[in-house]
Amino acid sequence: MFANRYISEATQIQVRQRAKFLCEYCHASEQWQYVSFTVDHVIPISKGGANFIDNLALACFHGNRQKSDKIKSFDEQTLSEVFLFHPRNDSWQEHFFWTKDTLSIIGLTATGRATVTALRFNRARIINIRAADQEIGRHPPPDEPIQS
Ligand SMILES: [Zn+2]
Repeated sequence: MFANRYISEATQIQVRQRAKFLCEYCHASEQWQYVSFTVDHVIPISKGGANFIDNLALACFHGNRQKSDKIKSFDEQTLSEVFLFHPRNDSWQEHFFWTKDTLSIIGLTATGRATVTALRFNRARIINIRAADQEIGRHPPPDEPIQS
């Protein structure tokens, strides 16, 4: 069956503004990246997701690539397969927080933990970028939950 995955320029602008130009998964800022972020289908078209704005999220290039067409992943703590974080239905604050040094993201819930692992939120390269950005005041984004 033909499924349209074309996203208009106007919709892409809306998605970026709604996301405040942050990756809606790992909260990287598009402003400081070399590669443009992509508009991700939260539920992939191949898994029945719609091509509407309610199913779209801004995602960094690496996150989008890791996510691919996954909707679920494994949580090591509860030993269960759970849904990945859904930026439209889930609140970031309920599933994630930053470590005290704000360089790594910790999953609070099974979904949070599975998403951190599946999308490799804390790979060495991104931690280095966060550290460099932090030194010049570009990281973390404002009003983020940080480990107390
Ligand atoms: Zn990301």
